[in-house]
Amino acid sequence: MTVSIDKLLAGDTRAIARAITTVENGVDGAVELMKAVFAKTGRALVIGITGAPGAGKSSLVDKLALHYRDKGERVGIICVDPTSPFSGGAILGDRIRMATLGLDKNVFIRSMATRGNLGGLSRATADAVAILDAAGFDKVIVETVGVGQDEVEIVKTADVSIVVLVPGMGDDIQAIKAGIMEIGDVFAINKADREGVLRTQKELEALLSLAHRPDFWNPPIVKTIATENKGIEDLSTAIESYRAFQKQGDASLTRKKAIAHWRLIELLRERLLTDMLRRTGSETELDDLAGRIASKEIDLYSAVEELVGPTLSKGPGLRYINHLGVATKGIDEALGFWVDALGLENVHTEVVEDQKVRVAMLPIGESRIELLEPTSDDSPISKFIEKRGGGIHHIAVEVGDIESVLAKLKAKGVRLIDEVPRTGAEGCLVAFIHPSSANGVLLELVQTK
Ligand code: ZN
Repeated sequence: MTVSIDKLLAGDTRAIARAITTVENGVDGAVELMKAVFAKTGRALVIGITGAPGAGKSSLVDKLALHYRDKGERVGIICVDPTSPFSGGAILGDRIRMATLGLDKNVFIRSMATRGNLGGLSRATADAVAILDAAGFDKVIVETVGVGQDEVEIVKTADVSIVVLVPGMGDDIQAIKAGIMEIGDVFAINKADREGVLRTQKELEALLSLAHRPDFWNPPIVKTIATENKGIEDLSTAIESYRAFQKQGDASLTRKKAIAHWRLIELLRERLLTDMLRRTGSETELDDLAGRIASKEIDLYSAVEELVGPTLSKGPGLRYINHLGVATKGIDEALGFWVDALGLENVHTEVVEDQKVRVAMLPIGESRIELLEPTSDDSPISKFIEKRGGGIHHIAVEVGDIESVLAKLKAKGVRLIDEVPRTGAEGCLVAFIHPSSANGVLLELVQTK
């Protein structure tokens, strides 16, 4: 499925829907799409709305959307429901909002649910918000059905977060405060015609007076009766007042940075997980392991080690090829091939006095090419070049604990050049094994910290 960026930016409903499906499924093209979208974001006001189920959030969102429509603004609504097995608007089919808002071309409504076993709901929701922002919606409202961890995280990424309460919650306020009290920039007591509204307000005020916001904002409390369209104007004013407050100081930038940080971690988590599973295990293997954990055959931590395997192994032994040492007559000349022609990058050059060499480090994935240049005629590299004219001089293997590896080799009768590690390039501990013990290969052990 390809998405037309031009149509998307022009606000074409079908292009928007397709784009959201693309990021939701994480299919090919999602990355390119989001790269293109990013530059066009930052104009919409993103409003997050959360609160306990039954607080009347949906009606409140609908009325707020209508309020903005009356002002001629375009409104995008994303409804996050991790408990729903459906998405793409299916669960909204039976909701009243489709009748009142669904036919309006300037309102886009979409629901999002959990995708697959790997989660990614928060990432997908944030991407959907960015898409609506880029598509020119003035307001993007993110509504969560519950107050789960996922949902709280999602609402945190909004410019303004609203927490909706209802009168008579009593102890519930205490119960939910840990999760959502601190994220509310504005509080709405909905169904304010109910008994106990004053008490709820007092309790809320008491809790807020104890809270310490880093930006010193005093969150307003607004009373609404969404079903009767009451208090919506006040809510809108409260949202604007926080917006204005943010713009005064650097609070807005601090918040944007915190959100970007969180999104980076989310995306990284998803990306690394996907990559790792692609490399080391399929869904079937995960399932297999889960079964073995359930039957106590293996514990969780060992299962993870089994999956992650040697790439991230933390044992004392051999890990991976740290670098290949290549002897050159002159590094600067050699870079003509390795950097200019081949495209590697020289990230570090240094003289290692101890070994009478100058080295240049050129990373390739987890390993590197180490170019070596003699600094004097009695350098071992000079002798090597004299004999062979250059070439691969040594192979360096990264180890977890160089001392224990050396002790093991010594016990097995391996001939060591260095029985005690010395300091090599970049302050690493290194030790060489004699070629006569390693089929003519000069082997270097490296321990990086
Ligand atoms: Zn080396």
